This record gives sequence, structure tokens and C-alpha cells, in this order.
Amino acid sequence: MMNTQLTLNTLLERAEKYFPKKEIISRTHAGMNRFTYAQFGKRTRSLASALEKLGVIRGDKIGTLAWNDHRHLEAYFAIPSMGAVLHTINIRLSVEHLTYIIRNAEDKILLIDKDFVPLIEQIKDNIPSVKAFVIMTDEEQLPDTTLAPVYHYEAIVSEGDENYAFPADLNENEAAGMCYTSATTGNPKGVLYTHRSIVLHSITLGLADTLAISESDIAMPVVPMFHVNAWGMPFAGVWFGTTLVLPGPSFTPKILAELIDSEGVTVTAGVPTVWLGLAQELETGKYATSSLTRVICGGSAAPLGLIRTYEEKFNIPFLHAYGMTETSPIVTVSRLKSYQQDLSNEEKLEIRAKQGLLVPGVEAKIVNENGEVKADGEDMGELLLRGPWITDSYYKEPEKTAETVKDGWLHTGDIATIDEEGFIKLVDRTKDLVKSGGEWISSVDLENALMAHEAVFEAAVVAVPHPRWQERPVAAVVLKDTYKDSVSKEDILEYLEPQFAKWWLPDDVIFMEEIPKTSVGKFLKRELREQLKDHLTS
Ligand code: ADP
Repeated sequence: MMNTQLTLNTLLERAEKYFPKKEIISRTHAGMNRFTYAQFGKRTRSLASALEKLGVIRGDKIGTLAWNDHRHLEAYFAIPSMGAVLHTINIRLSVEHLTYIIRNAEDKILLIDKDFVPLIEQIKDNIPSVKAFVIMTDEEQLPDTTLAPVYHYEAIVSEGDENYAFPADLNENEAAGMCYTSATTGNPKGVLYTHRSIVLHSITLGLADTLAISESDIAMPVVPMFHVNAWGMPFAGVWFGTTLVLPGPSFTPKILAELIDSEGVTVTAGVPTVWLGLAQELETGKYATSSLTRVICGGSAAPLGLIRTYEEKFNIPFLHAYGMTETSPIVTVSRLKSYQQDLSNEEKLEIRAKQGLLVPGVEAKIVNENGEVKADGEDMGELLLRGPWITDSYYKEPEKTAETVKDGWLHTGDIATIDEEGFIKLVDRTKDLVKSGGEWISSVDLENALMAHEAVFEAAVVAVPHPRWQERPVAAVVLKDTYKDSVSKEDILEYLEPQFAKWWLPDDVIFMEEIPKTSVGKFLKRELREQLKDHLTS
């Protein structure tokens, strides 16, 4: 067979050739914008030629600090297709981490949404590799800035060459993208994606038994394009000619609900906290959502109660998936096998709340000190992965690489079980497990149960140091507004009691206004642990 190269320019070329009339709908500071793929192709090529004029050569890293909008999407294709590396930067990192990763990646140019200009102004003297700043916004919104040299995105695109030809000799093993994990300890670690890994991962997104992204979809990635490439949806979507709806800056549940309604969104993807917020908005009954054929949920465990709410209350199918920055990210998707459709509703929900079956192309094993765990849904071990879109190293980090990639397997740090049907269930992250008197308690199981309580909006369970048991679980709970004065700690514990062994029950339930969250909306357990560390000793 021919050994043609799996490179990202071919994804764009397919969209230009076969789907010129299909649309990209993009919400920006200036309002709603609609572009056809034909226009998108021209703007993308113009951007590549403009970057070349600014001195970008093969292998250069180009950083983006941007929302999910059409300009970011243009950068997604212009930068890798010209042989440079798209470094999507998490805009919610601390100033120290931001400076660290721009220096570590040696970004040559930064493409910045106007919202992040003040942030970059703060660190501009500490990022010597950066030779130019390009502000991504409409002309009338261009801010004054101390950044220099500075260019206006629309100006350089309008002067660019819309017929710019991408290099014909791109190799599929060249770096195309880069992302840093949002470190919970130490500095963030960089992961380089190759053209090949992104193309193979994109194929996976289109498979009927995984996310089934297709031409007929109207897809709205809510997961940020600065977080593991919005789980690959922009790449797959463009390749397949999917209509894309990009929700833009500072969206709210209301904005998402309106976009689903007005654009007829068929598939959307994001973390559980986004779907918890949207569920509250949908309660108002103001929106038409029947176009949705699936809401994809990942990044943290999808609580069973959330799946039930979407499916039973709103009639919106919900799909649980798992992955990480190091895995591009899709690793498992929780779809029932055909013969499992006959199970009872409750049994089906239990299975679908698991992280799911491995997608084709990735291999896994779950190991503990006794070797590979039994496939009984009980035996726990660390999940190890390998495959063509699983990273084999951290950028410039030989030591961290050696700790994480051993014997050709990525050690995920996630503790999991696998049942007789092959469904993987994440029990916890190694660092989030509660180790009580030498036994493990899954904080995730407790959270799932808590979030299924009708009065609970959000809940997180963390390990708190204990004089006798080393650690004990403590639950932090946010009640829904209407239940704020009517539910007590005792009510919550009583509710949990029949569902768990006695020693699993939290030592305390603390009511909070809000659970601290990470930059991408996951519960920030590190901060919660810190807040509660003396709770059981003082
Ligand atoms: P970070 O490490 O910064 O949180 P990632 O987005 O790469 O960034 O996070 C990956 C981790 O998120 C996984 O290792 C896992 O612990 C957790 N995760 C992702 N998806 C799920 C899921 N569906 N259920 C439970 N945990 C998940």
C-alpha cells in the first residue's frame, strides 16, 4: 500500500474541496459571525502566508491564547499545515505557569484574543523567545497596548495570500500541536502531538461506536480549544465537513442554551460542571433542545444523576467519555453493547456511568502489585495505556517521562476497575483516593451518590488527615438554592448509609457556596484538601 502522509493540511483541503458551502458559526466579542468553509480556507491560507512574512519557519512554536472562535480555528489549521507547531495555551493558568510554558515551549509568536492582552503585557519582559504579538479581534475593538511589535490579526489576514500553498513535503511524524497539562503539583508538562497522531485520533472521533461525529452534525465544542484541542472536535469536524458552532468568549449556560436552540446543535462536548450549569438553565423550559442527539461529557466523572437528569427530564442522550492531555484525549467511550440493551434501565445507567470501552486503536491494562487485575469490576489497579495517539514523553522532561512512561506504557495515575464486559471504571486518581486504615475508599463513588441526591447541586469528597485512620473522607456539598435551609448533614449521611459500607461514609459533610474549580472547570481537590486539612484533627 502507499505510504502517504497523514498530515493536517489534507483535512483542510478536503473541507475546501467538498464542503465549501458548509458553515462555521462563531460567537465573538463583536457578535455572531458566519463563515463558509470556502471563506475559512482562504482566511486560513492568508494567515499562514502572513505568519511566514513574520518570519515563521518549519518547527517554530506559535502560541495561542484564545476562546473557541473562528480565528482560533484558522490558527488550528494554518500553523500545523505550514509546518509550525500550534501551542494552545490555557488562558486560566497562573502568571508564573504561563510564563513558564511560553519560555519552555520557546514560542516565537503569540496570537492573543484581546481579553488576554493585559495578561501578556504583565509578562512580556520575561518571554524573550516571543518576537511578535498578533491581536485577534475586530478592528473597532483593538485595544491600546504596550506589546511590541504588535500586529492586528484581521489586517495581516487581509493582506495575506489566500492561495498560499502549504509545503508538499510535510512528514506525518513532525510535531503539529502542543499542550501542557494543568499541573496539580510542580510545573505544567508539555505534550507534543504529531500530524499522524492527530489524524488517527480524528478518525476515531468519527466512528459510529465512539463519538460518531459526521458531516450531518452541527457540533458545538464547549470544552475549550486551549484544553487538549477541544478533545479533537475542531480537527475532526473540519475534516468531515461538519457544521461547527463555536461559543466564543465568556459564555454562560444561557448563551449555550440559546445557541443549541437557534443553531439546532446536534452534538456538544464539555466537562460535567458545564452540564450541571446548563441543566439548571434548561429547567426554565424556555429552549428547544430536541436537535441534540448526544451531549458528550468527560474530563471528570459524569455523575449518574446528571446522566439521568439529561435523559429522563430533558430527553437528551448523554455520552460519557474519558481521556487526558497525554492521550489526545479520547481513550474510552461509554456506549452499551447491542446485547446490553435488554438490561433494565438502572443496570444500563450503572454501566453508562462508567468511563466505558476502549476505543479501537488504543490498548490498555490495569495493574496493581499482584499484576493485571481481575476483570470482575472490583479489583482495582492503575490504568496503563499505549497507542498511536498516546504520548511517549513529556517535552524536555526526561525525568518526568521516565516516571510516567515505562516499558512502552503510559502510566495514567488513574485507578480503575474493569468488568467482565471490558467496561473500565475510574475509581479515582492516585492522589485523590482516600486511604483509610490501609483500605481504599473511592471519592468518586461517594461523589456520584451525593450528586444523585435531589437537593445537591455539586459535591466533592476529599481525603482529610485523621489521627487514627491516616485519612478519612469528608464531603463538601453545594445545595440547590431551593433546598438551602431544608437539608442537614444528617439527612445527607442518612441518604448515603444504605448505599455504602459503614466505614466508607464521610466523617463530615460541609455545606459550601461553591466548590473550588480548576482552570477547566474540574473540582480542585488539592485546594479543598488544603482548606480542610485540619478539619478532623483540630
Ligand atoms: P489535568 O491533568 O490537568 O486535569 P487532563 O484534562 O489531562 O488535565 O485530565 C486528565 C484526567 O482527568 C484523567 O487522568 C482523569 O483523572 C480525569 N478524567 C478525564 N475524563 C474523566 C472521566 N470521564 N471520568 C473520570 N475522570 C476523568
